[in-house]
Amino acid sequence: MNLLVDDHGRRVRKLRLSLTDRCNLRCHYCMPLDSTFMSEERYLSTDECFEIVSQLCSFGLEELRLTGGEPLLRKSFGEIIEKLARLPLKKIGLTTNGILLDRHFESLKRNRVHHLNVSLDSLDEKTFAKITHGNHLKRVLKNIETARAEGFRIKINVVAMRGVNDHELFDFVDYSRNTGIEVRFLELMRIGFAREEQERQFISAQELIDRLKSETSLIPVARERDSTSFNYRTESGAQVGFIASESKAFCGQCSRWRLSADGIMRACLLKDDGLSIRGQSEAERASLYQTLLGMKPLLRPAEVAHPMNAIGG
Ligand code: SAM
Ligand code: SF4
Repeated sequence: MNLLVDDHGRRVRKLRLSLTDRCNLRCHYCMPLDSTFMSEERYLSTDECFEIVSQLCSFGLEELRLTGGEPLLRKSFGEIIEKLARLPLKKIGLTTNGILLDRHFESLKRNRVHHLNVSLDSLDEKTFAKITHGNHLKRVLKNIETARAEGFRIKINVVAMRGVNDHELFDFVDYSRNTGIEVRFLELMRIGFAREEQERQFISAQELIDRLKSETSLIPVARERDSTSFNYRTESGAQVGFIASESKAFCGQCSRWRLSADGIMRACLLKDDGLSIRGQSEAERASLYQTLLGMKPLLRPAEVAHPMNAIGG
């Protein structure tokens, strides 16, 4: 097998595939209320997604995560996962805001999408609405509970923001203890629209860890080499993780590429430039991938103007 390995020994093992840049929320750090979106005609078709991921499997791809925008808004979502499920992937995951999960449990299960990352920045209705511009907290919580009962492997993603939701740190720890679901706190990254407020709202993973340690001891949990999070268990049994993309960059171990809904493959979330692989033959794509291997930065770029929902978070 020809593996995709760059000059720094980083092997491409994981792909984030964005299915759409559209969303049914407007998280203030991700997109403005008056966002504009790509025409749906530009989306890679179901067959193109299948062919691209299939070829990447032959180059050693092991894990696929579907994302967006909100991936569950893609009209052909069911058809896409049905095809992708046939590929020899070790793991298929979905990153979602959770609103539409109730419509998809059966097909997610049938098509072995067992790993769900659900974004949930607040457990309080007012704060949730303020961050997301949507009143969907109850539905999201209910869907998470159903997903747990149905046996899905769930992680909650919380973007921690000073003065916005950081007062809920211990509420999330209690939530994890009560539900048995791991909660991961993400540092606010300097991407797209988040750059406007980033400096004021940024709160480091270390500060959150210190706050937690003042009330409970944190027991470190083993992690995979290319994992992006540092994980702990609290005395009470809560599982908490921290993704310190800003303060402790993990570029040296990064194993991910990202494919946007319109077919731009990027070697890094924080790079504007990528290569269009839409309409290319297998041989042309294979050649573009060799170029892309050289486009992955070793040092973390400081920021990127590209909106997060268009790249695929
Ligand atoms: N709509 C889905 C969701 O919210 O889970 C998938 C796409 S969303 C862009 C993926 C993840 O990126 C979410 O957990 C979101 O909170 C996170 N995200 C978006 N912008 C971010 C930023 N500037 N810094 C850190 N995380 C961000
Ligand atoms: Fe939508 Fe996810 Fe962006 Fe929020 S973070 S606006 S849910 S794509």
